[in-house]
Amino acid sequence: CGIVGYIGPKQAQEILLEGLSKLEYRGYDSAGLAVYNGETIGVQKSKGRLSELEARLKSRSLPGNLGIGHTRWATHGKPSDENSHPHVDQEQRFAVVHNGIIENYLELKEELQAKGRVFTSETDTEVIAHLLADLWDGDLVSTVQKVVARLEGAYALGIISEHEPDKMVAVRLASPLIVGVGKGENFIASDIPAILKHTRDIYVVEDGEMAVITRDDVQLMKMDGTPVQRDMLHVDWDV
Ligand code: GLU
Repeated sequence: CGIVGYIGPKQAQEILLEGLSKLEYRGYDSAGLAVYNGETIGVQKSKGRLSELEARLKSRSLPGNLGIGHTRWATHGKPSDENSHPHVDQEQRFAVVHNGIIENYLELKEELQAKGRVFTSETDTEVIAHLLADLWDGDLVSTVQKVVARLEGAYALGIISEHEPDKMVAVRLASPLIVGVGKGENFIASDIPAILKHTRDIYVVEDGEMAVITRDDVQLMKMDGTPVQRDMLHVDWDV
């Protein structure tokens, strides 16, 4: 339902929580964060309100400067801790947040389970994390392209990987997604209010496009890698 992502010099946790709180008006049943701490990806997630996630983060915080966050509105699998996003692969090398529905997830799930991938949730989303691990080819952008080619449905995705912790990848097909452009830091979000505290310069990601985001750079491209030129939008309204 709600997506926020951050890459930059600051602690991601606070920025992600604050961003998710700005998306609360959309409704949600659970929330979670994945943050890369310089070595591994840590995940905290919880059924219920953002305050419950915050309580968990008080006992075990997620330090680090790269992260993704999500508020979930369940479509596949009941609201529960396990079904909350982000979802990760078995080795926790990839973390993904997803808005929308993966229509062909059952067939993908069976295929991945037959290869020995162990699922921990009932969601459609979890197949994406396992597909990333299964199709990993040594390059995050090209692996995401291979994964997306296997997906049917509607989705906005935020993806991070321990393999390439200098970037965040976002993908959009029929579910809103924007990139917020800062100075030495960048953001992704499913909606503008989530990042307005930090920047007013945004790119709207269009259907069938992906964004590859580092601290200092944003590249928009079609799913096949063809670069896309887009004018930056300056937001002059407040929330
Ligand atoms: N289909 C996904 C799920 O049920 C994502 C739902 C959402 O957009 O929040 O977990």
